[in-house]
Amino acid sequence: MTVNIYHDKDADISILEDSVICVIGYGNQGRSQALNMRDSGLNVIVGNMEDNYKKTAIKDGFETFSIEDAVKKSDISFILIPDEVMKEVFAENIKPNLKEGNTIVFASGYNVGFNLLDLPSNSDVLMIAPRMIGVGVRETFLTGEGFFSFIAVEQDYTGEAMSRLLALSKAIGTLKKGAIKMSFKDEAVLDLFNEQAFGPAFGRVLLTSINTLIDAGYPPEAVLIEMYMSGEMSYTYQKMAKIGLVKQTYFHSHTSQYGAMSRGIRYMKLPIRPIMENTLQEIESGEFTEEWEKRISKSKFKLIRFFATKQKINKLEKQVRKNLKMKSYDIFEEEPPTEEEIKVLEKISDEIKQFEELYE
Ligand code: NDP
Repeated sequence: MTVNIYHDKDADISILEDSVICVIGYGNQGRSQALNMRDSGLNVIVGNMEDNYKKTAIKDGFETFSIEDAVKKSDISFILIPDEVMKEVFAENIKPNLKEGNTIVFASGYNVGFNLLDLPSNSDVLMIAPRMIGVGVRETFLTGEGFFSFIAVEQDYTGEAMSRLLALSKAIGTLKKGAIKMSFKDEAVLDLFNEQAFGPAFGRVLLTSINTLIDAGYPPEAVLIEMYMSGEMSYTYQKMAKIGLVKQTYFHSHTSQYGAMSRGIRYMKLPIRPIMENTLQEIESGEFTEEWEKRISKSKFKLIRFFATKQKINKLEKQVRKNLKMKSYDIFEEEPPTEEEIKVLEKISDEIKQFEELYE
């Protein structure tokens, strides 16, 4: 499979000099992308609800409007609101205010890739999905390092979609590092797979390690520092990204390398792969999205989060942080489900019981 990777030399920002660009949603991505585009010389306005985010946009010196008015005044609209509210906001506040030939830009492939939005056929539809959190999008723009992104063209109404995509990508700062072209759906699948396969598998391994050591009598303070609180792991991750997955092991002692590699083989035959393949298939087929779109899943989500707050590790971590004189952050409070929600969930009571037991 060939892959197209774009850099600064592939884009011409001057094609956007007469365009008005609105950033809808001045949150994590919105603020950073708006500031970067303005610093790249583009004409950027902000559309947001009346809230603290809007106040920040005003403080940052942007002209701000309601979402509807910002879209009306613009040629290009960046839709940088949370994916879960996109369907409603797009249908009610954005789509009716778009004009023929407008460009719509998303930062995630989820809604378009899984056909959850009713897109106007007379617009260009683009994606610039940073592989970087919002603060990093701004910081790496300022340092000149840039960040990776996945980019896509879903609709090319004007015939200029690709050159606009590259110009906007350059203005945001991602082409300094590189942008890979793919489809909206592929971006969404990769993102969901990381969240649903690697993330939980890693979390399970981490918790099992912690419990094994604590049950064997090692002090929780020492165990949590060893396993993640020192921040050493994130340093290893940075090294993996910078110099390579295996090469970074050279930064560890020979004892560490020998122990990890000789014992590593014990985990290689665990049947993780079929579970991951099944997860991938669920995502690719749209089964996951269909499930998440159902109302019952919102109640299920609330209940699982409630169980998650009850896990032993939360109490332990709180105590350890106190003993180590570290700042304590209250674990998110989740209300127990209402009678009505419990009734709805009775339909899947066996599944719910499993969560309750596993999160003990
Ligand atoms: P945020 O959670 O930071 O929210 C963005 C903005 O949306 C805020 O201004 C928020 O205002 C507004 N908003 C929330 N709900 C509504 C609503 N119902 N109607 C109108 N505005 C609303 O979003 P992110 O920046 O994290 O995500 C934006 C996009 O970027 C998403 O598509 C996401 O997938 C993508 N993305 C995010 C990354 C990240 O690191 N966060 C990385 C790469 C892509 P308020 O809170 O006041 O409601």
